[in-house]
Amino acid sequence: MNFFNLYKKNKSSTTNTNTANDVDADTSLVQRLQTFLGKLYQRAEEMHSEIQVSGQRIADADKDPFKRSFLQFKAGMIAQFTAIIQKGSNTYQEEVIPKVSTMELVKISQIFNDWHVGVLNMMTSAFDQISERDLEKEYADIMKTYTHYKDHFHCKQCGGKLEISTFYFTATYIACPYCRTQNTFDPGTQVRLVEHLARPLAELRCNELYERYQEHRRAFGTDSAKEKYQLYLQALIDEMNRILPGLTAQHQNFYDRLLSDYERFEQFR
Ligand SMILES: [Zn+2]
Repeated sequence: MNFFNLYKKNKSSTTNTNTANDVDADTSLVQRLQTFLGKLYQRAEEMHSEIQVSGQRIADADKDPFKRSFLQFKAGMIAQFTAIIQKGSNTYQEEVIPKVSTMELVKISQIFNDWHVGVLNMMTSAFDQISERDLEKEYADIMKTYTHYKDHFHCKQCGGKLEISTFYFTATYIACPYCRTQNTFDPGTQVRLVEHLARPLAELRCNELYERYQEHRRAFGTDSAKEKYQLYLQALIDEMNRILPGLTAQHQNFYDRLLSDYERFEQFR
């Protein structure tokens, strides 16, 4: 691809991204560089937001303890960012710099540097928010702690064994059936984390239904996909009820909210 022929042809449609007020200093070389880098920048932004949208799901869905599919996805994305940086740098070095005038040099190098820093930042920060967690293991560890605490819970007054039949993940008063003393059942801070684990873990377990819904939606649109979305949501809250029993009403509210959001917003996308 010849950078100059391409951009001569498209000159009338070029957009000037950041220098509307000093048009005088904008030679066509500056403009062409801005357009060229602007397109690469846009592609990098698209990749960055794609990672924010689907990266965590890919990481969570990867059952491999070494997270190999996720790492493959990550490596592929980094390679694409690197290719963008490479493409911009090569064009800048080989096709722009040899043709630049002394007057243009400061401006041109600043445009390139800003672009370079911008794409580099996107690449290095893209995966910052994504944690490579093993949710099933975290949940199993929490439940082990909980079960141990529950099985060793005795009345502080008479030492009688107190049976806990409901799942309490926050501190709760339990009356001793033998001596009526109020005891505090507090499984600890680690167990409280299960509250934040319920949704991502349920999403992970229902990933197949989610994929099926997405597939249908891509093929037939949001209206037609509503039924599949409901199936996914129902499975999701069933799973949340299993992970975190005793919050059925809250989980039902969560279902209602997600479904009404779908009806209100998704169909306009
Ligand atoms: Zn007692």
